[in-house]
Amino acid sequence: MYIVFVYYLVSITCYCQGEVYKDYKGYKYFEIGGNQKNVERVIKHLSKNDESLIHWGSVNSSQIILAPHLISVFKDAVAKENLQTVILHNDVSEIISMEKDKSRHNTKFSWDNYYDINEIYKYLNETRTSYSKWTELIIGGESYEGRKILGLRINTPYEQGQRETGKPVFFIEAGIHAREWIAPAVATYFINQLLTSDKPDVARLRDQFDWRIFPTVNPDGYHYTHIADRFWRKTRSKSNNGCRGADPNRNWNYNWGQHSSSDNPCDYQTYAGSEPFSEVETRTLASYISGIDNLLFYVSFHSFATLLLVPYSDSTEHVDNYDELVSIGQKALDYGTRVNKERYDGPGTAAETLYKASGGSMDWVRYKLNTRLVYTFELRGSSFHWPASRIWEQGEEVTQLMLGLADGAQELGFF
Ligand SMILES: [Zn+2]
Repeated sequence: MYIVFVYYLVSITCYCQGEVYKDYKGYKYFEIGGNQKNVERVIKHLSKNDESLIHWGSVNSSQIILAPHLISVFKDAVAKENLQTVILHNDVSEIISMEKDKSRHNTKFSWDNYYDINEIYKYLNETRTSYSKWTELIIGGESYEGRKILGLRINTPYEQGQRETGKPVFFIEAGIHAREWIAPAVATYFINQLLTSDKPDVARLRDQFDWRIFPTVNPDGYHYTHIADRFWRKTRSKSNNGCRGADPNRNWNYNWGQHSSSDNPCDYQTYAGSEPFSEVETRTLASYISGIDNLLFYVSFHSFATLLLVPYSDSTEHVDNYDELVSIGQKALDYGTRVNKERYDGPGTAAETLYKASGGSMDWVRYKLNTRLVYTFELRGSSFHWPASRIWEQGEEVTQLMLGLADGAQELGFF
């Protein structure tokens, strides 16, 4: 009995670097169908800005994770609003502990596991050493807790006779939302593909661009999801009232604070920050991006909706080369079906296919830098937990998606 009791205590509480690991014991996970306005009313009625109520949604459905004490209030509210609910999981802690049990710390970085920030950075360092003629480490900025936003540049030398004016830059940003673990995993998978694949079209893709790939642009938040709270989304900066973090994809200086943004520093999900670029991560990354000459592609990886988005996120207005963006995006999605027949939705503006959201990196890059080819991939999945044993599937799919973007752009004469 005593042993069982001790095991129980150890299994639910981990004081990692002074942080208590939040186990989400008894939290329930629901899908809600029905009118979005009614869903919003339910969420408002519950009026919780902390992690006892975690919600997200798209046009057709919403998902919600609820602390035990909110469940009966929630059930009354959805009945009153005539909404349908399906319970996806009875105890969220089981999903989290299953994920943790699976995590192994091999000496060799692989793609059947999720890694914390230091291990990802170690992988980037080792890759840089192994491919020193093709790669360099790049620093895209810094974080509140003093980490670097570390990335890898892959820029293979020109063969003799090729033009030497500089290749077009293909920028990839992943992990801006900390809990979307599949995004950094797919980014490193793609790096590995570019460097090691024996497929001629992937080698060609590698050589066509000057790649700048940043697997975790919110390193503090990502680390926090490993040591303390699996559903953390924001940065880790400290507000005047002591609450932590801002949503780094609501913090960019374009139409800041307009849609799907909270002005409450304690909002668990979408606090937009005290002002545009209040977060050092977005401010320094924006400065890095602004310094890139010849930026052709800006691609952001999020999860999950299995959806390809084009600017703008905060308005239904179409950019001047919307048709080009859609046609190149379609090609990418066509290529994606080589790996998974269930095609991504889109391409379309976030405002039309998902919901309006302001202050995102994609909108800022498009509007302020006038970068022509800007996309956000909402990766595949039905929750933030994509099985580690299946990272390779999305890695392969993303490799094809990137190949499709490149071929689509080349056909239209972008390079
Ligand atoms: Zn996201």
